[in-house]
Amino acid sequence: MRRSIARSVPALASRARPSLTPRLAGLSTTTPIQASKPTIRTLHITSRSQQASSAGVKLTSTTTSYPTSHEKIQNPVDTPFFIDNKFVASTTSEFIDLHDPATNNLVTRVPQNTDEELRAAVASAQAAFPGWRATSIVSRQQIMFKFVQLIRENWDRLAASITLEQGKVVSDARGDVHRGLQVAESACGITSQLTGEVLEVAKDMETRNYREPLGVVAAICPFNFPAMIPLWSIPIATVTGNCLILKPSERDPGAAMILAELAKEAGLPDGVLNIVHGSHRAVDFILDAPEIKAISFVGSNKAGEYIYSRGSENGKRVQANLGAKNHAAVLPDCNKNHALNSIVGAAFGAAGQRCMALSTLVMVAESKDWLPELADLAKSLVLNGGFEKDSDLGPVISKHSKERIEGLIASAEEEGATILLDGRGYKPADPKFANGNWVGPTIITGVKPHMKCYTEEIFGPVLIALEVPTLTSAIDLINANEYGNGVAIFTKSGATAQAFQKHIECGQVGINVPIPVPIGVSNFSFTGNKKSIAGGGANTFYGKIGLNFYTQQKTVTSLWKEEDALATKADVSMPVHH
Ligand code: NAD
Repeated sequence: MRRSIARSVPALASRARPSLTPRLAGLSTTTPIQASKPTIRTLHITSRSQQASSAGVKLTSTTTSYPTSHEKIQNPVDTPFFIDNKFVASTTSEFIDLHDPATNNLVTRVPQNTDEELRAAVASAQAAFPGWRATSIVSRQQIMFKFVQLIRENWDRLAASITLEQGKVVSDARGDVHRGLQVAESACGITSQLTGEVLEVAKDMETRNYREPLGVVAAICPFNFPAMIPLWSIPIATVTGNCLILKPSERDPGAAMILAELAKEAGLPDGVLNIVHGSHRAVDFILDAPEIKAISFVGSNKAGEYIYSRGSENGKRVQANLGAKNHAAVLPDCNKNHALNSIVGAAFGAAGQRCMALSTLVMVAESKDWLPELADLAKSLVLNGGFEKDSDLGPVISKHSKERIEGLIASAEEEGATILLDGRGYKPADPKFANGNWVGPTIITGVKPHMKCYTEEIFGPVLIALEVPTLTSAIDLINANEYGNGVAIFTKSGATAQAFQKHIECGQVGINVPIPVPIGVSNFSFTGNKKSIAGGGANTFYGKIGLNFYTQQKTVTSLWKEEDALATKADVSMPVHH
């Protein structure tokens, strides 16, 4: 059973929405798909459960009909992949079960695309490239305008998919979509962003530069921002004239599938965006396919360092944003109320599963005395299913993740730290969530830099606190940490903030701002430092640097002599222009 919501229903932002039946996450029907490009072999698609139908494969959520509760899905259907602007059921026999993190009910199965399907995706993108590259930039811009409009119209639907598959609360899931939408909006300004330069370098001689697309490019995404991170790549890669193969996280690909549907509706031609699924094998295929010129990766250090080195060895351009341990230095002169509220929100929001989650406090001098008050604030947060109206934070992504997080809390205890607030064993009151992956807000104090809870990224609702006597010792401590994604300082002193921002080694610095992520509508980029970004941080996402990543520079020097001169003798020396 499913119900539809009229378009006039107000946005899902208010968590007080009535419950609707869950969507079926994958296909509605399956059909043999004839690949439209001559280079692609025909894929004969058969369904596990359904016979071929001429109606075609569709996502079962729509702009106005999508899940709004954690109700068990009676007949979960498999997630399709997306090729040549069609949703296609994989012929694979290997699937990854995707569970609602709040209940561990099965939501869908995600295919591990076969080699033939992966090759077909590459062939499709390659076949699309000449036509897409030749499409005028104004036409590409028009598609981007439409894409932005469609994302806005499907905002609640995208957020619902994220809440069901990833677990974050609906208001936060809307924020996930918003941050990606901003990148799509900025891509609409491509006509002024992609301009080259021209200079008359000598008499009748001009040098100009162009930025051209790379060709077929790929993006490999993590689980924690199912809409935002695909949207770090889809708009910029395609508006610049590339064809993109995107592999969403196998743990929550639903939002990326909706984005594919919207990109098609916006007018992206067949093959400009293809979506494939899988884990390590699909990644290895992308790393080794010679047709793929560049790879965008966001995820853990383990995967990212491997992807950066193997991709680079294969001659590809790679941008890779990796793990984090984001510190906040809390100075005793700060606005205490603002600092404590900001810290609680930034540490525990999204169950601590943000790459910019504020996971590590450096309490300077007597600010350590505020820790019990911080624990009281954290205790007041409500854990619940993301669709429930009272929920501040949802579950963590998987049972395995819960066990890993609880193991790190236990290790801190064993190594001599104090568990000031212990979220292990937490369960929401509602019995329907009894089997979810819950970890309550946890605060660990008395942490020392050698402890495992400090050296490892926890990626859960766990805040650790270290104590230092001075600002200088806080800066030294933070700089000695091998990660350098984000950092914050809380102080009322401009001089203190100035010294901090100057000496701190980190990609993104917040001064009284807990999660200082630059928004994607500006020229600022998602900068990183040290182990949090591969390749020394040269290739960052979105902004000017992100645009450069997806384009190849070409410099042309031309001579059109004013007089109609015919050379009488070849000049064999190295040209020197005067
Ligand atoms: P992950 O590394 O496990 O997975 C990311 C992608 O890599 C997935 O698509 C997955 O299929 C693939 N993958 C995983 N292991 C692989 C392997 N061994 N070989 C090849 N491919 C592999 O990351 P995750 O758990 O999905 O995401 C959380 C991580 O991402 C955290 O470390 C977080 O800090 C990081 N992250 C960083 C940023 C940033 O901008 N710095 C943003 C978001 C998330």
